[in-house]
Amino acid sequence: MKKQVNSTRTPVYRDAGFELSDAGLTSDAFRREKENEHVPERFIYSRYRNPTVIEAEEVIMKLEGSAWALLTQSGMSAIDTSLSIFQVAGDRRPWLFFSEIYGGTISYIDSVLVARRGIEVHSFHPDNMLYDLGKLEKQIKALKPAVVFFEIISNPMLIVAPAREIIDIIHKHGAIAIIDNTFASPMLVKPLELGADIVIHSATKYLGGHGNITAGAICGNNEKLMKDAIAYRKYIGHMISPDDAYRINTQMQSFSLRFRRQCDNAMAVASELAGSEKVSDVYYPGLRQHVSHGIASALFREEAYGAIVTFSFSGKDDNEKRERRDAFIESVSDCIMLVPTLGDSHTILMPVEPVWGDRYPDPGMIRLSLGFEETSMIVSRIASALREIS
Ligand code: PLP
Repeated sequence: MKKQVNSTRTPVYRDAGFELSDAGLTSDAFRREKENEHVPERFIYSRYRNPTVIEAEEVIMKLEGSAWALLTQSGMSAIDTSLSIFQVAGDRRPWLFFSEIYGGTISYIDSVLVARRGIEVHSFHPDNMLYDLGKLEKQIKALKPAVVFFEIISNPMLIVAPAREIIDIIHKHGAIAIIDNTFASPMLVKPLELGADIVIHSATKYLGGHGNITAGAICGNNEKLMKDAIAYRKYIGHMISPDDAYRINTQMQSFSLRFRRQCDNAMAVASELAGSEKVSDVYYPGLRQHVSHGIASALFREEAYGAIVTFSFSGKDDNEKRERRDAFIESVSDCIMLVPTLGDSHTILMPVEPVWGDRYPDPGMIRLSLGFEETSMIVSRIASALREIS
C-alpha cells in the first residue's frame, strides 16, 4: 500500500469514495474494476475495495497460507459469500452440509438457502461422534452435490473431521469443498494445504480475539473463485468497515501468542475437569478419551487441540445435574462470564441445554471458551468452584 507519511502501517482510510480527478482516469478505473483484482490500480469506492482492508487481508493471507483473503462484516457474510458464488441460475444440483455445524449456519440454510432461494439441501450426520467416510462417499456419489460444507471442529461436542480424507472424497466426485475453520484456526490446520477450495472464518472469534469486533474472512487460492467472491461482496455490500479492518489487523499480530495460550489453558482445564468426580464427561480432543483424539493428533499442528472444552456434571437425575451446572455458573461468575460467543480474551461459558436443547438436552452440560489468562489462575478458579458445589 502507498503511504503518505513514514507511518509503520496503512492508516484507517475512512473515505467512502476516492479521488479520480478527471474523466479519463475515471473511465480507466471503472474499466479495470470489472477485472475484480484484489489490489486495484486505483481505489474507487470503499464498498469495492479499501486500502486499510487490504492490508488486514494480507495478514490473514499469511496466517492461512492463502493467495487471496477477503474480509467481510461478519462470519455469516463470509459464509453467504462463499456459498452464493456457487449458486448459478439453472444449476439444480443439491448442496451437502455436515449436520455438526454452527447453529446460525443451520438457520441460514433453512431460512435463506432452502426457504427463499429454493436450493435442495441435504445433511450428513456422524455416527457415535465419528464421521463414517464410507457412508459419506456413498451419499456424495448418490447425490452428486455441487458443494459440500463442513467445520473442522464441531460445536459443542468438538468432533474433529478428518479433513484431508473428506476433501479427497468431495473432489473425487466433482464437488467443491468449503470449510469453516473458525474453531481450529490456522494454527491447528490450514485446510487449503489439504486441498480445500474455500476456507471461511468468523473473525469475530480467534482472529479478532478480544470479543470486540464482528467480522468474517474468506480465504482461497483459486483466482476465478476469489474474484467471484470480490464481485459478490461488492454487489451485496458485505464489505468490512475500514475501522474494523484496522483493529482486526492490529489484533491479529498477537494471534499465535493468544491462541497458543488458549489451547494450553483448554488442555489444563480439561484435565482438571476430567479428575473431578462431580463431572461425568469431558469433551476435548486433546484428551485421550475423546473419540476424535486420534484424528486430531494426526491433523493438528503444534500439539494443540483448540480452545473450547465442553463438559457435563454428573448427578443422580436431571435435577441434580442442573443444580450443579447452575451452582458452578454462579460460583465462577466473578471471573468467568456467561456470554453467548467464543474466542474472547477471557474465559467465558455457555450452558448447552438452553441453546442446543433439541440436539443436546443434557441439563448438566457447559461449554467453556478458554481465554488467554494465566493458566494457573483459571485452573485454580475452576478447581475451587468444583470443590464448592455440593
Ligand atoms: N462459524 C462458526 C463456527 C461460528 O461459531 C459462528 C458464530 O458463532 C459463525 C460462523 C458466524 O460468525 P459471526 O457471528 O461472526 O457472523
